[in-house]
Amino acid sequence: MNAVWRAFEDELARWRDSGREVELWWRDDDACRLTPALTRLLELAAAAQMPLALAVVPEGAEAGWLGGLPAEVEVLQHGVDHRNRASPSEKKTEFAQGESLHAALERLRGGQARLAALAQGHFLPVLAPPWNRLPAQLTARLPRAGFRGLSTYGVRSAVEPAPGLRQVNTHVDLIAWRQGRGFVGEEAALQQAAAHLAAQRAGRADPSEPTGWLTHHACHDEAAWTFLARLFERTRRATGVRWRRASELFDGVARA
Ligand SMILES: [Zn+2]
Repeated sequence: MNAVWRAFEDELARWRDSGREVELWWRDDDACRLTPALTRLLELAAAAQMPLALAVVPEGAEAGWLGGLPAEVEVLQHGVDHRNRASPSEKKTEFAQGESLHAALERLRGGQARLAALAQGHFLPVLAPPWNRLPAQLTARLPRAGFRGLSTYGVRSAVEPAPGLRQVNTHVDLIAWRQGRGFVGEEAALQQAAAHLAAQRAGRADPSEPTGWLTHHACHDEAAWTFLARLFERTRRATGVRWRRASELFDGVARA
């Protein structure tokens, strides 16, 4: 085992020694059509028996593959059309300040209905907004639009950002967005995970939030695929580590 893996596994051992279980979960974004990369992702999840939360863009999502998902795959809603509506002064977002709340909620409801019909029992009413951004005033209204969960990026600031809305974020991003959109590398990925776990042990991050691994199948190079397979192999049966299903994390979130 090289030094990079050793540091990560040392952190897992610290949790084990303190009698606490490390909880991990996996979210993959931008699914829409059954591309070769998406096929590979689904095959990896099946081979590794990994619970996968697939964030699907409702608009343009094709019915065929969504109707035949294996049991380990659950579907979250990745915005509605994944179109960037940001004004020049905003960062990229589908839900820009310039769009009325009413219009945004109507779009979200429509996307939810479409995705729930396509993915059926695999669908969870959980929103993973594109670019991980959602205005606070829209977050507050998600429960009334039928959502029971929200997932963005970074340590959550509240377990329930609105009454009836559970938030569980991702904390490890496998893609280097500003460096050519390739894999960040084994070292950077494992360091992000170890840093989140260490911050939780030190009380600098919500200790009850599972560490979320965020992947983007369309951007994966061979190194990213190899890393994921290795990560799953090394952690799936590790003592004191548990990979959780999204339906377990968004506790009380009924399947549509
Ligand atoms: Zn996206």
